[in-house]
Amino acid sequence: MHKEKIVSKQKTALVCGAGGFIGGHLANKLKREGFWVRGVDLKHNPHQGLEIDDFVIGDLTDPVVVKEVVDRDFDEIYQLAADMGGAGYVFSGIHDADIMHNSGMINLNVGHRAVEMKVKKIFYSSSACMYPEYNQMNPDNPNLAEDSAYPAAPDSEYGWEKLFSERMYLAFKKNYGLDARIARFHNIFGPQGSWRDGKEKAPAAMCRKVAEAVRDGRDEIEIWGDGRQTRSFLYIDECLEGVRRLMDSETFFGPVNIGSDEMVTINRLAEIAMEAAGKKLSIKHIDGPLGVRGRNSDNRLIKEKLGWAPSLPLKEGIAKTYAWISNEVEKARVKK
Ligand code: NAD
Repeated sequence: MHKEKIVSKQKTALVCGAGGFIGGHLANKLKREGFWVRGVDLKHNPHQGLEIDDFVIGDLTDPVVVKEVVDRDFDEIYQLAADMGGAGYVFSGIHDADIMHNSGMINLNVGHRAVEMKVKKIFYSSSACMYPEYNQMNPDNPNLAEDSAYPAAPDSEYGWEKLFSERMYLAFKKNYGLDARIARFHNIFGPQGSWRDGKEKAPAAMCRKVAEAVRDGRDEIEIWGDGRQTRSFLYIDECLEGVRRLMDSETFFGPVNIGSDEMVTINRLAEIAMEAAGKKLSIKHIDGPLGVRGRNSDNRLIKEKLGWAPSLPLKEGIAKTYAWISNEVEKARVKK
């Protein structure tokens, strides 16, 4: 770990989870903005070159590691480390104990240490998965307004841990003055993330299925469920823009949704990936873990409080993501 080389007055940031998809992109963005940046993760970032000042391999469930990593009064901590993945990981049930224990421990340790070291601001990435399942039964009209969180009834243990940790950061704020800011991310996607390691989410999985079918000359892809469940997907650059705006706000701290309100069915998502590939394929519906029936980001609060909301059309984000994944799919064939 480097303690030297921080230009005086240069702002310092710690990104927990910098070996992951959003954390890696965020760490590089903060560096480009002029921060001195330290990243920490269990692993190096498999898809992104990180051009930051310091990177620590460490397990944040261990308070000794957290003590070493949070060794100063950082200007900003971004806490994105979590045990997570797409529906295949979160909804199968077989990872529930690990998800709750690992992510819970990380947040307990990081929140406590941030108070101890008088860290100036901390960002916590919660999730749309903390919203009650009973408001997400109707695919055409789900309710995910920030104030609809209670009575609580998340559809997964992953969602319950997120809700617990939100409350814990808010309690640290109330009792110890920790400047905690919380966003509830809605399906973030983009290039340089998981696409075939079992933790990939729907947009990456769809791009991979289409790219593999195109590469192998097949005319069909498989989709879990009937494909009529609805979701919205937010491109990585807009996610980071929302996070930075929330961190820079002098008056608003969340919790707030950071997501797109362009709601589509999963069947439509598949079509958009096919359009990016320039190839029409048929869809075979098979059994698989699904999650709620309908979900969309409610962006009224973010518009009101930050004067901004995401606006990039899904098609444009998928085109960029498809280009990266189809290239990875091709490289994977060459390696075989
Ligand atoms: P990711 O899995 O790519 O990144 C999470 C990182 O945390 C991984 O690199 C992992 O190795 C690291 N990590 C896990 N346990 C750790 C530990 N004990 N010590 C140190 N590092 C550890 O996920 P992501 O998509 O980049 O998501 C980042 C954050 O945003 C997570 O908190 C996630 O729950 C939240 N979120 C993401 C989405 C999304 O669509 N990607 C949606 C809602 C919320």
